[in-house]
Amino acid sequence: MEPVKQLNILLVDDDPIMRKVIAAIIIGNGHLPLMANGYEQALSLLVKNKVDLILMDIEMPEVNGFVLTTMIRELYANWIPIIFLSANDSEAYLTQGIDAGGDDYITKPVKAIILRAKIRAMARIASMKDELELLNKKLSQLTNIDPLTTVMNRRGLDECLKKEWAVNQRQQGELSVLMFDIDFFKPYNDHYGHQKGDRCLVRFSKVLQSLLNRESDHIARYGGEEFLIILPFTPLEGAKFKADEILLALKKVAIKHGFSNVAPYLTASIGISSTKLGAKDYNELINQSDIALYQAKEKGRNQSYIYQGI
Ligand SMILES: [Mg+2]
Repeated sequence: MEPVKQLNILLVDDDPIMRKVIAAIIIGNGHLPLMANGYEQALSLLVKNKVDLILMDIEMPEVNGFVLTTMIRELYANWIPIIFLSANDSEAYLTQGIDAGGDDYITKPVKAIILRAKIRAMARIASMKDELELLNKKLSQLTNIDPLTTVMNRRGLDECLKKEWAVNQRQQGELSVLMFDIDFFKPYNDHYGHQKGDRCLVRFSKVLQSLLNRESDHIARYGGEEFLIILPFTPLEGAKFKADEILLALKKVAIKHGFSNVAPYLTASIGISSTKLGAKDYNELINQSDIALYQAKEKGRNQSYIYQGI
């Protein structure tokens, strides 16, 4: 037998005795009943709770079970299994129930053993649906990751920036970004080969990661040897401090680079910008850090530079 996951079961029935009887069966099977005497209570319970399954009476005053089911299907994109309960077991009724968006049908008087079996069947489908959603989530995370360095890729960065930009707008904070470009990476690749080049990118990204100590900070591979760090709620001075800390860490780690014109080890140039500098959207913020990066290179590389406007 599969493990029983406790389900929140919404029971909609205008008959108080019926509610009592069915609630007892629900509890007896280890689940939690949420009781509604009609459409108003049902809709309000649906807003306030995560409902896994709905047991729906058909004959109810004002709004009957068919109409309420149609309403729920229109209101919620997320599928919740609905089982109808009715004394009427005609084929026409059954068809109407399925047309309204119901998934199954139980005739009254409800037999405990039947209800129990149907709940289990629906719970199984619901848990498969949960698993599927989890897999989809994992899949979408995978498509947002750079397979070599396992940091976010361009696509992940885009989603992340969109989110952080919105949060920052709401909270009126200061969002900073650091754009990195490894100095003389092409000669590194040319002399040491692509395999070593790849390993170098991994090591470089690990150095960046090791210096991000807040959950809220993000790192992404922007292009070949370009990386980006997003620092929410960080003023420009804090971002500059972080950039220089990273330059120092690279000096300490000292990944050997015999073909660089600035140092005998791997270095990077860093462009810095923050929302304080007037960007209207996150693309402009990234552009600013890119311009600042270009300036850091112009000034001789192995340094950070704050965007100064154009
Ligand atoms: Mg009724």
